[in-house]
Amino acid sequence: MNRAIYHNQREAIYILADGCCEICKKYLESFWVKPPKNPYFKQQPKQFRVINGHFHHKIPLWIGGEDKKNNLQLLCIDCHKLVHKSMPFDLYLNMELTSAQRR
Ligand SMILES: [Zn+2]
Ligand SMILES: [Zn+2]
Repeated sequence: MNRAIYHNQREAIYILADGCCEICKKYLESFWVKPPKNPYFKQQPKQFRVINGHFHHKIPLWIGGEDKKNNLQLLCIDCHKLVHKSMPFDLYLNMELTSAQRR
């Protein structure tokens, strides 16, 4: 995917979540960075970063989840770790699918 779209999409998810982790509702600060100029490469687009936050794929990319807004969730690092650690994979998947269907 185009890198500029990738970062704009992450900002859109961040705004949608009011900048808060979608599990514990902790506020996560964000900022845009401009990558340093490198004479050997084309200038890279600005990057959207969230401090102590991650974008979690509800349906993992490797089983066909998409890198799109409705498959991404803003989580703080702690909740993100928990999501991946605390659930057996298939249970986790079922839960995510049923919550997707409810929408
Ligand atoms: Zn959290
Ligand atoms: Zn994740």
